[in-house]
Parts: sequence; C-alpha cells; structure tokens
Amino acid sequence: MAVQQNKVSKSRRNNRRSHDSLTAANPNECTNCGELKRPHHVCSACGHYADKEVVAQNDEIDLDEDAA
Ligand SMILES: [Zn+2]
Repeated sequence: MAVQQNKVSKSRRNNRRSHDSLTAANPNECTNCGELKRPHHVCSACGHYADKEVVAQNDEIDLDEDAA
C-alpha cells in the first residue's frame, strides 16, 4: 500500500477538491408529454425526440403478435 510521505496541506487538499462538486442537471420539458427530460436526449417517458417517436414504448408493443 502506498504511504503518504508528507502531510497534505488544507490548501492543497482543497485545491484538489475544487473540481469535485457536482453540477445540477438542466432538464427540459418534453414537447410531446411534458415530462422533464435531458436536453438532446430521447424522452425516457414517451420515447419521442424532436416531435417524432423514435423509441417504441413497451405498452405499445403487442407481444401476442410474435407468438401467433
Ligand atoms: Zn415525452
């Protein structure tokens, strides 16, 4: 195990941690369903992107179609 050779000063420690803070997400409202979504990402609630459905939702897929 690596053992630190010198005490890290408060200044050096705090400087290292200056990049550690998390930034808050900046969600947009989905234009289709109004749910909050990440900008430039497909809406996780309805699967729409730029007013088009690009990801089919589970409740819209008829599972019996393949079985028949
Ligand atoms: Zn949506």
